[in-house]
Amino acid sequence: MSVLVINSGSSSIKYQLVDPDTGEAVATGLVERIGEENGLIRHTYGDRVREIEGPVADHGVGLETAIGLFEEIGPSLTDGAIRAVGHRVVQGGKYFDGPALIDDAVQAKIEELCPLAPLHNPAHLKGIVVARRLLPDVPHVVVFDTAFFQSLPDEAAVYALDRDIAERYEVRRYGAHGTSHHYVSGRVADILGRDDLRQIVLHLGNGASVSAVESGRAVETSMGLTPLEGLVMGTRTGDIDPAVVFHLARVGGMSIDELDTLFNRGSGLKGLTGENDMRLVRSMAAAGDERARTALDVYAHRIVKYIGAYAATMGGLDAITFTAGVGENDADLRADVIGRLEPFGVKINQELNAARSKEPRILSTADSRVAVLVVPTNEELAIARQAMSLV
Ligand code: AMP
Repeated sequence: MSVLVINSGSSSIKYQLVDPDTGEAVATGLVERIGEENGLIRHTYGDRVREIEGPVADHGVGLETAIGLFEEIGPSLTDGAIRAVGHRVVQGGKYFDGPALIDDAVQAKIEELCPLAPLHNPAHLKGIVVARRLLPDVPHVVVFDTAFFQSLPDEAAVYALDRDIAERYEVRRYGAHGTSHHYVSGRVADILGRDDLRQIVLHLGNGASVSAVESGRAVETSMGLTPLEGLVMGTRTGDIDPAVVFHLARVGGMSIDELDTLFNRGSGLKGLTGENDMRLVRSMAAAGDERARTALDVYAHRIVKYIGAYAATMGGLDAITFTAGVGENDADLRADVIGRLEPFGVKINQELNAARSKEPRILSTADSRVAVLVVPTNEELAIARQAMSLV
C-alpha cells in the first residue's frame, strides 16, 4: 500500500509513489513548464521511463496525463493501490501544527493563507483541487512546511514590529522546509541514539534554511514570514536590510512587484554570479572568477553566522547536520563551513567528508566537540508517513 505524494508548483508538478514502510520510491514523475509551448511530462517506474513532450495546458491536464501514465507504464493506481495522497503546502499559518485531512474547510484555509505565500500556496491549491477531482476515493492529506515551526518560542517568532500591525496582518516568523528539518533532526537523534540533543540542521538546496532543534522541538529557524529570509540561496537574497527596499523604491524607482522578483528570483548566487547552480558557481570560482569566489565566501559566512547565533541561543550545541542538494553533495562547502568553526573544537575527518555516498553518515572526528553529519533529506517519505498517520 503506497502513498502518492504531490508537490505542485506554479508551473510544475512533482510526484512520487512512496512505500511508507520501506521508504522506497516506487515510481516518480515530473510535469514541467505547465502553460508553456515546450511542456514535458516524465514518468519513471523501475527502469521504465516515458517522456511526453509538448504543451501541457494546465495543472489539470498535467496531473490527468500523469495518472494515465501510471496505468500505461505502471504501477496501476486502481483497486486500492494507494492508501492516501499527500500534498506538500508551504504555508499553514498559525492554523496547522501538523498534517491535516483535506476537506473543503481545510482547502478554504489554504486559500485564505495565499497572501502569506503568494508564490506557493496558489500553486499548491491547483494541485489539490485537481487531485481531489481525479482521485476522489482516497483520503487527501496536506503536510505544511510551516507546521514543525509552530513550536517556536515567541522570542524567536515575534518580529520587533508595531504589535497591532503585526497582529492585523499576521506578520511573524513561520519558517519553511519544516518537513525536511523535522525528518532530518529525527534521523540524527536515531543515529546518535539520543533524544536530548541541541541540533543545528542546514538544509542547503536551491532554497536554503537553517534550524535549531532542542530535544526534537524547533526553537529557531532562518526563514521568516516567507522563505525569503535567512541564508543565501540559489536565487533569493536571504537576510538583507529592509531599508534596501525603501532605497530601491525611492532612488531606483522600482515597484513592489519588481523588488519581489529581484529578491526572490534574481538574487542569491544568481544575482552574485549569474548562475544559481552551486556546481557552476564552484567551477567559475575554480577558473578564477572573482565574483564567484566572493559569492562562495558570502554563502559560507552567512551559514557560520547562523551556527554561532543558534549555538548561543541554545546555550550549547551537540550536532550540525548538512542536507539537501548542496549540503549532501558539496564536500568543499562542508569543509569550508566546518573549517571556520575549528576554533570552537568542531572537526571533521576530511576523507569521510570527501567520500561520496547517498547514506546518512557521521563526518566528525572522535575528538570533535560537536558531531557533524550528512543526512540526505527525504521530504516525500516524510510526507507519506505523516499522511499515513492520519488515515
Ligand atoms: P535541491 O534544491 O535540494 O534539489 O538542491 C539543488 C542544489 O544542489 C543546486 O544548487 C545544485 O547545484 C546543488 N548541487 C547538487 N549536486 C551538487 C554537487 N555535487 N556539488 C555542489 N552542489 C550541488
